Amino acid sequence: MNLTEVKELYDKYVLATYTRQDLCLVKGSGVRVEDSEGKTYLDFFPGWAVSGTGHRHPRVVRRVTEQLEKILHVSNNFYNDLQGLLAKKIIDHAFPGRVFFANSGAEANEGAIKLARRYGNPGRYEIITMEKSFHGRTLATLTATGQDKIKEGFAPLPEGFKHVPFNDIDAFTSAITKKTVAVIIEPIQGEGGINVPDEKYMHELSGLCREKDILLIVDEVQTCMGRTGEMFAYKHFGIEPDAMTLAKSLGGGLPIGAVVVNEKHAGVLPPGSHASTFGGSPIVCAAALGVFEAIEEEGLLENTVRMGEYLVARLNELAGRLGVIKKIKGKGLMIGVELDVEDASSVADECMKSGLLINCTQKNILRIMPPITVTKEHIDEAVEKLSRALEKI
Ligand SMILES: *Cc1c(COP(=O)(O)O)cnc(C)c1O
Repeated sequence: MNLTEVKELYDKYVLATYTRQDLCLVKGSGVRVEDSEGKTYLDFFPGWAVSGTGHRHPRVVRRVTEQLEKILHVSNNFYNDLQGLLAKKIIDHAFPGRVFFANSGAEANEGAIKLARRYGNPGRYEIITMEKSFHGRTLATLTATGQDKIKEGFAPLPEGFKHVPFNDIDAFTSAITKKTVAVIIEPIQGEGGINVPDEKYMHELSGLCREKDILLIVDEVQTCMGRTGEMFAYKHFGIEPDAMTLAKSLGGGLPIGAVVVNEKHAGVLPPGSHASTFGGSPIVCAAALGVFEAIEEEGLLENTVRMGEYLVARLNELAGRLGVIKKIKGKGLMIGVELDVEDASSVADECMKSGLLINCTQKNILRIMPPITVTKEHIDEAVEKLSRALEKI
């Protein structure tokens, strides 16, 4: 099918909740994808970081293919032979605790919200979140999200959420009341424009949470699985959360989410208190085990640090040459390029035309998050295309 035929079907039959680019992707391998017309692209924004280890990583494909021959789904009133292995893998890289498996980021956050509510019950139910945060599109997670536009028309919203400015410890401190039970924070804000908080802020926030028995929940849905150069981004700040949520890259392209709860709070959600029919099925666990294997066996955290530095250096060159770049921010391969223009979406469009996929968020911030398998050659090629797109504005 060509793009016109594909679009006709969407126009008739698919609910129009998305603004889509004129692009139908039909193949992907590593850092490259191909569209329905046979044109190839460098994918520096692979599915909002879902294909974080690249499209169809061979280790993910091998594990999933093996599992396809065995069984696809096992319900959670039985055991399967992969869920425990994956939970152990996550815990080994995080902190002592337990894992609940869900199917998406919103669902993982929904689970974390239920954890907090159940922990505070009765009496404490308020959850503090950050302005410009993003936590998902279910009723509770869109309420947790600190952006008004995604709440429009959905009132009445669940009670008990409060937003404070990100990276502002005084604002957080004054928002705490006797009813506060948890804070949910992205260790680096993604949709909000790649905002990296100060280490001091994260320390103080964590200290306050300990002192006042407030659950510190980090939303690692976008930052997890090596994206920032650490397996999980909270590690950059020398803190340890009570719970964290994962999704996006965890499944290497397949839908899986997770709530990771530390040992102290692992009993808050007892049998019968939370569930998911699809959660932790062997096929997605196989994929996630393949992602861990890739990161561990192929030194992808080191690669992320080195390639992140290289990409930032190349972007700094561009900034020196072209006046339009205001600021380059981020960590590892989670990078934001703030432009001195009102609307930078035309730059992303121009890049797409020349065969480079990137994203534009918060109107004037280009978001660049290539697969963590990326090489210098890919980066050089991408920077060349980006440079030409920037010259046009
Ligand atoms: C994408 C995202 C979510 C929502 O994940 P879905 O899988 O789309 O439900 C939640 N939190 C953060 C930080 C995200 O980037």
